Amino acid sequence: MERTNAWKAYEEKDLKTVQEIGEEYRDLISRCKTEREWAREIVRRLEAKGYVSLDTVRRQKGKLKAGDRVYVNRMGKAVLSFYLGQEDLENGMNIVGAHIDSPRLDFKQNPLYEDSDLAYGDTHYYGGIKKYQWVARPLALHGTVVKKDGTALDLVIGEKDDDPVVGISDLLIHLSADQMGKKLSEGIGGEDLDVILAGQPLKGEEKDAVKATLLRILKDQYGIEEEDFISAEIEVVPAGKARDFGLDRSMIIGYGHDDRVCSYAELKAIEQIEGTPKVTCCGMFVDKEEIGSVGATGMRANYLENAAAEILELMGNYSELKVRRALQNSRMLSCDVSAGYDPLYASVFEKKNAAYLGRGVCFNKYTGSRGKSGSNDANAEFMGRLRCIMDGNQIRWQTAELGKVDAGGGGTIAYICALYGMEVIDSGVAVLSMHAPCEIISKADLYEAVRAYHAFMMEA
Ligand code: MN
Ligand code: MN
Repeated sequence: MERTNAWKAYEEKDLKTVQEIGEEYRDLISRCKTEREWAREIVRRLEAKGYVSLDTVRRQKGKLKAGDRVYVNRMGKAVLSFYLGQEDLENGMNIVGAHIDSPRLDFKQNPLYEDSDLAYGDTHYYGGIKKYQWVARPLALHGTVVKKDGTALDLVIGEKDDDPVVGISDLLIHLSADQMGKKLSEGIGGEDLDVILAGQPLKGEEKDAVKATLLRILKDQYGIEEEDFISAEIEVVPAGKARDFGLDRSMIIGYGHDDRVCSYAELKAIEQIEGTPKVTCCGMFVDKEEIGSVGATGMRANYLENAAAEILELMGNYSELKVRRALQNSRMLSCDVSAGYDPLYASVFEKKNAAYLGRGVCFNKYTGSRGKSGSNDANAEFMGRLRCIMDGNQIRWQTAELGKVDAGGGGTIAYICALYGMEVIDSGVAVLSMHAPCEIISKADLYEAVRAYHAFMMEA
């Protein structure tokens, strides 16, 4: 039952493709670190493949038919793509869905203050983080500021080689007797995650002179006033590029593999669809998974069913019943990362049911915690069908649970899509140091995920 390492089976040409895909992905996650940046890139690449906005089709009173490609852009933070197939939509779609948000620190609405001749940006962390991992490291600012008149400014500070970076200080070891005695979860508090932004007072300024310097720079270089932070989304993320990892370059270390790696694999698989597919292929790139899939851009919002309804209408075939059928008859891979087995922390894994780096794309029948609570427990029949598709296409794959029973757990978007009654299973890439500022994946697993998602959309 032990799955073999995918690298062992690769021929010269496979190895070349594995490295090419790895390189493209590494470049992409170095450039696109936020859900907005990634969503923009996804739309750009979909349009290059002939996808048009569903809104545009509707406004121009166009019609849709098999072979057409449309996308939905939800507020610049979530994207859905549809490649319309030969079969009636009411018979269901083959869906691959991943999230495009990652754990990070968000600026508060009133973030700026000065203390002891340093200017700070106060943050509220987003998603599950180990706070101690975010101090004493170079950080970058990525975000969007919306002015009162509605104009939006995008900013990225800290990624170019000659850009300044920002960061959070940690206490020196010499004075850390108290801190080092605390539990790891309490060593750094949520309110300790304040980012140092400036340190030089503005000449002629008496009070808060360093903050004045910061405000001057924001105004002169970016056109931002202090009040504009009220309507801004500034995300503090690790600065710098993703890198090849390991002397053999078999892995990639970088910020936000969860879940850029699966969403990238999904996009890559969608780009490889040729001709008119038998069944409609749907790609979902959704926001807010890390905080419970809430909000208008999270999976709990109804955009999938709204899009299905719009498409049926534009195909001249709408009824509410058909929308329900289209969703219930669908099959879906909920594409999200899984915990890679880590021999340094062997005690939280169960070796027979763990995902190993390099052993291919991973299927999690269930996630959840404390007796599968909160999970989508996929049907054996569906898993059986997937075995057939994976083996039939010589895809290297493995199965896994997220850790030992009662060691902890986690969730994905799978259970939300299952509410429509469709078949769903979690499938993704194994990650080491998940949710850390720098996560690690194997390029072989990424390659197998691309192949798996493509095969699934063609055959499920
Ligand atoms: Mn995830
Ligand atoms: Mn996550």
